[in-house]
Amino acid sequence: MKTTTQTDRFLDYSKIERLAKATKPDSGRLKEILSKAEKLNGLNTDEAAELLAITDKESINLLLKTAAKVKNEIYGKRMVLFAPLYAGNHCTNNCLYCGFRAANKDIHRIKLNMDQIREDAESLISEGHKRVLLLSGESGHYPLSYTMDAIKAIYSAEVKGAKIRRINVEIAPLDVDEFKTLKKANIGTYTCFQETYDPDLYKVYHPTGKKSDYDYRLNVMHRAMEAGIDDVGVGVLFGLADYKYEVIALMEHAADLEAKFGCGPHTVSVPRLEPAPGSAISEEVPFPVSDDNFRKIISIIRIAMPYTGIILSTRESVDIRNELFQYGVSQVSAGSRTTPGGYSLSGEKENKQFSLGDHRSLDEVINDLTNGGFIPSFCTGCYRKGRVGNDFMDLAKPGLIKKFCMPNGLVSYAEYLTDYASEELRDKGYALIDEITENVQSDSVREMIEKSVKEVKSGVRDIYL
Ligand code: SAM
Ligand code: SF4
Repeated sequence: MKTTTQTDRFLDYSKIERLAKATKPDSGRLKEILSKAEKLNGLNTDEAAELLAITDKESINLLLKTAAKVKNEIYGKRMVLFAPLYAGNHCTNNCLYCGFRAANKDIHRIKLNMDQIREDAESLISEGHKRVLLLSGESGHYPLSYTMDAIKAIYSAEVKGAKIRRINVEIAPLDVDEFKTLKKANIGTYTCFQETYDPDLYKVYHPTGKKSDYDYRLNVMHRAMEAGIDDVGVGVLFGLADYKYEVIALMEHAADLEAKFGCGPHTVSVPRLEPAPGSAISEEVPFPVSDDNFRKIISIIRIAMPYTGIILSTRESVDIRNELFQYGVSQVSAGSRTTPGGYSLSGEKENKQFSLGDHRSLDEVINDLTNGGFIPSFCTGCYRKGRVGNDFMDLAKPGLIKKFCMPNGLVSYAEYLTDYASEELRDKGYALIDEITENVQSDSVREMIEKSVKEVKSGVRDIYL
């Protein structure tokens, strides 16, 4: 492993620029790339770049079909659910797209204290959530000790014996020693979006504050992994630069992590720029990404990085979310608020980070997922069993996501149905669990699911493989 308190730009920008202008493949070459993808070995950036260039309906349909196949082969029907928890919205940065930026004087600034964080977590637990993403702005208001305490407060929250079982963290980049401290708080994934990989545009969108240092942000995952954080989540804020450039750069980023640490990112997030209070560029998106191109992006990431989770947030509308579940998305937020204290404080003041496209409650999302035949999953088994980082990837590759995650997902879904769902949803959900269980090929896995679901119905909680 190369240790990396590096500040170098490990990306080859001329290669990224060249590939962003790649021409589309002819039909023979398209079939060749897609049949390679179907073997679940991923794609290189040259191949992904060719796919990014396709525009005709027929080729796009072939791509979507391949992505759906890869998604189903590796992840089956499981969909992991989580909720963001915003601890505070003070920020010394000036990201032009964000409602929290320092120059926005019209926003009401809030920093939750530990009791308020616990209350927010309790509201989420009462709805049935088990996985939380903890976020904040970047400011002296939120030193690492505050984040450490916030994590403790969330893990300590309890409602009728139920608790949050996994906390992922999305805070401003840390140095290696700080990441070593963060690791001790028992976090799941550390997530941070590069926003844009284009260094010139990055400078424009991040004029002042610590975040204006492109290289410090670019190397954040190298520092996190060097500090021993096994699961990291990368992402791009689509709309800030040419989407082709961003997807290729993101793949190169992932490849560099894999080359240096033996494991690429655990997840990729795909936010699109949404309207934010007081942000002109969020109203007039510099490089808008159409729904058609967004489908293409997600499908290409799915087949190029088949074992990396794709996270879609409630920034997107219900319709596009439901559609994208098929083509590659494996984790979704649900019932989200982007205001600090959004689940427990009365939020009459304007203090949100950006607008949401999906306002459904967790229960409504689960109802819709159930109608679509998906398995809503709150599973936290892999991380609690130590199947993280490289170990997770080694297990995922021979198809064990299905072997572990599908049964764990079903059992966590049964828990939700028993403890939180309406009678109608409960009946429908149990019928879906029975149907999926009956079709499980392996006798031992099927028996394990049947036994665990029975135990859940009789009151046992938190069963996982
Ligand atoms: N403040 C930290 C940072 O910037 O890394 C923590 C995460 S910030 C609260 C979460 C993410 O929200 C940012 O990385 C950015 O990509 C996204 N975001 C900000 N403004 C947005 C907008 N208008 N639409 C969609 N996403 C936005
Ligand atoms: Fe602050 Fe993060 Fe918003 Fe930028 S994106 S202004 S760093 S909260």
